[in-house]
Parts: sequence; structure tokens; C-alpha cells
Amino acid sequence: MPSSKPPIVWSNAIFFALINVAAFILVPLWGMMQGYSGWAWFFFVLFWVLNGMSITVGYHRLWAHHSFKARAPLRWILALFGAMALQNSILHWAARHRVHHRYVDDVTRDPHSIKAGFWHAHMGWMLRKWPTTEADFSRVKDLQKDPVVMWQHRHYWSLVWIMNLGVPLALGLLFGDVVGMLLLAGALRLALSHHFTFFINSLAHLWGRRPYSDENTAVDNPAVALLTWGEGYHNYHHAFQADYRNGVAWWQYDPSKWFINICAWCGLAYDRHKTPAFKIHRARLATQFRRIQHLAESTKVHETWRGALEREYQRFRETVNHWQEVQAKKVQTGRAAMSDRWLKTELRTSFKELEYRLKMQRRRLQVLAGELNQRVRSGLSPPPVSG
Ligand SMILES: [Zn+2]
Ligand SMILES: [Zn+2]
Repeated sequence: MPSSKPPIVWSNAIFFALINVAAFILVPLWGMMQGYSGWAWFFFVLFWVLNGMSITVGYHRLWAHHSFKARAPLRWILALFGAMALQNSILHWAARHRVHHRYVDDVTRDPHSIKAGFWHAHMGWMLRKWPTTEADFSRVKDLQKDPVVMWQHRHYWSLVWIMNLGVPLALGLLFGDVVGMLLLAGALRLALSHHFTFFINSLAHLWGRRPYSDENTAVDNPAVALLTWGEGYHNYHHAFQADYRNGVAWWQYDPSKWFINICAWCGLAYDRHKTPAFKIHRARLATQFRRIQHLAESTKVHETWRGALEREYQRFRETVNHWQEVQAKKVQTGRAAMSDRWLKTELRTSFKELEYRLKMQRRRLQVLAGELNQRVRSGLSPPPVSG
């Protein structure tokens, strides 16, 4: 980031100030003075969820990453409620997001690099004319062929006004609570929806663990997932951006993944891309090895520990090589593997065995790292290991 700050974007600065004052001062004041109708609460929740999901499921996982495909009705809904979320058009958003992935953490290229500070990554990047925020449409040529994306891009500002002002106003008139509807389903919904998605750029690059890769600042944190419609498993996402899941385990809180699954069961979504389990285990182990090797190098470690580590690493490499062989066999046999039941089962069980090997190796490494850490913390030199 250059030292002299670029000029302020006054339209954005004034708008963010007004919407946050309305949401966090006017909304509680009006609530204490007049109260809100049940319908105002209902549409507040409904639009809040739809706005959040349109950004995470639509803008992010569908359009920016093509991690699944969606039928026309779903694409229209996501484009419409995405415009309501007021985060620019799909084309703009995806162009910047792809730059974020490509140049993550680089303060001179990443539009919202966390290295420029929490505030910059959360909102500051939109408040000044930073050169890094210029959208490069050459990165979204694929999306320029999508009629829904281009329609939303052409009519973006009309859609923003209709969805943010027209719809709450019409609902307010219909249910007899105009101010309540404008404040709850309009202002509070928009401000909360903004911060819930802005946390992905700020908190999800700051506060958490990095199990899949330590090459960038993206972190995994279930608490952040609660605040970001499941996008808090951001370390996983930066490691495997083509995966439609961010919370990869079934129990991890990722409502965007569940929403895509529900759409798939209804026939509205298809071709959901999943990273092979082996690659996920491999990434975790590689990170674990890097950490434990770093720890072993920075402390005086007994020769037998080094030997144990080297043996584990050798086994890891052998398993990876074996997996590559099975993968090559799968490609070679191609269609035959799909029609021959025995061949198909052989390949599947080989993959499962290799995944299991990595899983067990991770357990061993965890024990090794735990003991090493404990010794280092207590100032003792690690004991020799047997075998
Ligand atoms: Zn990120
Ligand atoms: Zn992404």
C-alpha cells in the first residue's frame, strides 16, 4: 500500500456511515418507542439469509469459483438477492475476488489485503480510491458469456433501488408497518448482511488455525463460520478454492454448503466439485511436516527423533507416489474402469487404503509433535524415541 493515501470515495463513506447509524442507532430507538410488527421481523430474517447466501453461494462459490453449476431459476434468484446485498455486480465482485486469490496478502495487488490492517480488509478498502480495487474484467471473460450475470451488471443500480427500497416499502404498505419494514428489512438487514460477509476478508484472514496451508494468512475458525454463513473455514477454501464446501466435514457449520446440497436434491444445482479426500489429507500432512521439521530444526533434537521424522516423511512420500500411480491407472483405464465392476472396486479400495494410511500417519505425527512441543516448553531436551 502506498504511503500517501488516495482520495476518499465520499459516496461510499457517506452511505456506510448513514446505513450503520440507521441500523445500530435508529433501529433500537424505534423499537423502544414504537416496536416492530412480526412481518417486519419475518422479512428481516428472510432477506438477511437470502442476501448472505446470494453472496456466499452465488457470487462466491458459483460465479467466482465455478465450484458447482446452477439451473436458471436459482441463478436468477441469486443474482436478484445478490444485487439487494449491495456489494457491486457479480462481474465486479468476481473480478476482484479472483485477484484476491491470485495475489492474496500482497498489499500492492490484493484488493483487501489483511497485511494492510483489519480495518482496511474489512471496510477501509472501499472507502478510498486504492489502485488495488480497480476491477480487471479480463479475469472474468467466462462470466461475460453468462446472460444472467450480464443482465444483472447492466441493470445493477435499478435492481439495487428496487430491492432495497421498493420491496421493503411495498411490503410495509401491504402489512401496515412502513417504518418498521424499512428499518428492519431495509437498514438493519443490509448493515448486518454487509458485516457478515466483510468478516470473510477481515476475521477469516486473522483469527484461527491454518491446517491446510501456511503459505497465506487465510485461517479456519468455526466461530468465524458462524458469522459468515460458513465461510470461516477460509484456510481450506484458499487451499482448495474449486471445492463447493468450505467446511469440508459434514458436521462443520457451513450453511452455504447445506443450501447448495438442498438445491442439488431439488435439481436446481449439479456438478458439485469435491476435492479428493487424499489430497485433503496430503495437504494437512504436508503442513504438519513443515511445522514439526521447523520445530526440530529450531531446537536441539536427539538424533533418533530426527530419524523417526525422516522415516515418517519417507513413508509419506511413498504413499503419495503410490496414489499417483493409482491415479494414472484410473486415467489409463478410463471408461473401462467405469463399466468393469471389479476394476472399479479395485481402484476405489486402493484409494481408500491410501487415504487411511495418511490418516493414521497424521495421528502418529500429532503424537510426535505433541511430545516434542511439551519437551520444548518444559525446557527439557526431547527423549530418544525407540524404533
Ligand atoms: Zn480470502
Ligand atoms: Zn474464494
